Amino acid sequence: MAPEALRIHDDRLHEDIEKVLVPSAAIAERVRALAAAIGADYEHADGRLTVVPVMTGSLLFAADLVRALPQRRMRIQLTTVSSYGGTATASRGSSIVGALPKHLEGHHILIVDDILDSGGTLRLLRSEFEQRGAASVRASVLLRKRIPSALSTPVEYVGFDIDDEFVVGYGLDYDDLYRNLPYVGTLRRDALARVGASA
Ligand code: 5GP
Ligand code: MG
Repeated sequence: MAPEALRIHDDRLHEDIEKVLVPSAAIAERVRALAAAIGADYEHADGRLTVVPVMTGSLLFAADLVRALPQRRMRIQLTTVSSYGGTATASRGSSIVGALPKHLEGHHILIVDDILDSGGTLRLLRSEFEQRGAASVRASVLLRKRIPSALSTPVEYVGFDIDDEFVVGYGLDYDDLYRNLPYVGTLRRDALARVGASA
């Protein structure tokens, strides 16, 4: 099968999805634009670019972004951040799960995450990487919520600003479901309740 025949831009609605917020074609176009901007900014990085996708939510975004970057020489090192104490109002803590990425010293680090919400993840990773001697640290998120905590968190590259709704798809999950959807959308109320109850 020719690669063009892969149906990766198929926005057929999953039965649990209420509405599509960002269709797959819009994501693809925005990822190309982000990659062009990022690629130009890292022209000087000279083989010392390390991309750090934050698992698991940035799985699809990072996969598409690194393939669209003009740079062909880069390291990719995954990291996982867990958030806890996360009620809507209480302040959250975040911690890095597992080993820290290596080769930080002297490297230009590009953090890639799915969505900017409280900002805890980016603040934690940025300070950790800066302390470990990275030459520079920048961050790219596919989505940013239009809420003060997100809008006040430094981030260099943003795909889309969205309303403060719980979204899934294109890597983002609810109980590890829906990550495979090629678009970003909101969940139907009954699906939220059903999945939540079985979790
Ligand atoms: P922050 O540290 O900015 O609060 O957290 C961002 C993380 O929280 C994201 O990487 C994601 O895992 C999770 N998150 C925040 N908002 C949403 C959302 O609307 N949907 C999903 N599926 N995850 C979210
Ligand atoms: Mg995440």
